[in-house]
Amino acid sequence: MYKVTMLAVFLAGALNAQAATVYTGDKIDGNPVISKLDVDDLEAGKVYRFMFQGVSNGIGQHWYVPVLVAKGAQPGPKLGLQAAIHGDELNGTRVIQQVFEKLDPAQLKGTVVGAIGANPSGMLANNRNWQLVNDGGDMVDFNRIWPGKEKGNSAEQHAWLLWNNLWAGNAAMFVDMHTQSRGTEYPLFIYADYRNPQVKQMAELFPADQIKADPGEKGSVETTFVENKIPAITLEIGKPKLYQPELIARSLVGVNNLMIQQGMIDGKLGATAKEQKTFVGNEMSSIRAEVGGFAEILVKVGDSVVKGQKVAIQRNAFGDTIREYTASHDGKVLAIGNDPLREARGLLVRILFNNPDPQCADGC
Ligand SMILES: [Zn+2]
Repeated sequence: MYKVTMLAVFLAGALNAQAATVYTGDKIDGNPVISKLDVDDLEAGKVYRFMFQGVSNGIGQHWYVPVLVAKGAQPGPKLGLQAAIHGDELNGTRVIQQVFEKLDPAQLKGTVVGAIGANPSGMLANNRNWQLVNDGGDMVDFNRIWPGKEKGNSAEQHAWLLWNNLWAGNAAMFVDMHTQSRGTEYPLFIYADYRNPQVKQMAELFPADQIKADPGEKGSVETTFVENKIPAITLEIGKPKLYQPELIARSLVGVNNLMIQQGMIDGKLGATAKEQKTFVGNEMSSIRAEVGGFAEILVKVGDSVVKGQKVAIQRNAFGDTIREYTASHDGKVLAIGNDPLREARGLLVRILFNNPDPQCADGC
């Protein structure tokens, strides 16, 4: 009896220690469905397509996330890429597709995992948020609830499944791809926690227009990874609901640079922050509408502005000026509101700048 118990304990321990890819037995459009990924048990030198089984929805079906895995012929680092955590932020889907179009698993050292459309609920709703069905419907910002909850609402459960069953053990560095929100735009821009030197190095391998040295946002994908000692950045690729080839191409250069620097692929580094002359700031200031009305923005993304410079006008329906807005700091225009309809608190202009206070050195 004692021996049997010990054997059972040993086996259970061994099972826990050795995660394994779980195939549900289903296929969707010919692609195997998995409820757990462990890249270590995949045969090396191949590219895999999976449908990752997410949370179940109101009609008793699962949300699925398409996942590409390139398992290199030789061992090496594990890179994770994710797009569309916000459902209408789509440039990153094309970046990940192009990364895999160019990867040769026979030449790759290590593993690349790409999740193309992590928030299918929001994507189908043409919305940044996760859509809840209960109580007539509600929405959740799917980039504020990580690492999720095993017994939470559907958004929290989906995040929990992605964190525990897709990414745990399968990513030692991570790029989470976003864009600015609908009605606003960014250039190619990175949020990076400069307190972590590996994160700083990652960010500066991308030829971005601007980088914010940033202490992070609780519940975001990026901050959840960084808190768990996995270097991660939030890559903001321009505008939502659009493919922008030039920004997609530069994002791809950044991912390639990262793989070259990590020894995962051979090649020469492309343009980095240095060649791009990326503007790095440690603080940002958002100039927001004080009232509702039609906004005309007088600056473009990337423009240099000086404190006091007029940057936006708001008018009523008859064309009378009701508010004028000026730059709060000397700096660079990081984002603008490109939708003229702005209600109170709507973003007009966001300025990235450098606060000389030593406490802000790594981001305020
Ligand atoms: Zn986003």
